Amino acid sequence: MADLRELYQEVILDHSRSPRNFRAMPDPSRTAVGNNPLCGDRLTLFLRLDGDRVADVSFQGSGCAISKASASMMTESLKGRTTADAGILFDRFHEMVTGDVHAPFEAGPLGKLAVFRGVAEFPARVKCASLAWHTLRAALASPDAKVTLE
Ligand code: ZN
Repeated sequence: MADLRELYQEVILDHSRSPRNFRAMPDPSRTAVGNNPLCGDRLTLFLRLDGDRVADVSFQGSGCAISKASASMMTESLKGRTTADAGILFDRFHEMVTGDVHAPFEAGPLGKLAVFRGVAEFPARVKCASLAWHTLRAALASPDAKVTLE
């Protein structure tokens, strides 16, 4: 388990140091701003939708390694998915980070996002890991949304 944790940490560090899709988008269909005041994580999410498909997704912002890595990996896993699939991923991710870390677990559609499973052991970091996802859900629900995690 210790080795696995190290691997997970490496993936998270890599994404926090060089976040993917870290850019503003000139022509987004949706934007949302997410704020996690407990840790000081802030991000703006940009979505371009093509029908019900996520054609492009990017973000900008500042925050801790977990919040950045989570946003980076979320953008990677969303491209090309339908908005319905994105909603399912939100639910699965949320269940994973708020669930029992010792319960049996299958990554399923989460794939690489399963690296954040360990966050469930650290309640203070759950909001860091889920900020991007709450921001995504808000962006899908309305064109210009703001989310603050309390
Ligand atoms: Zn944070």
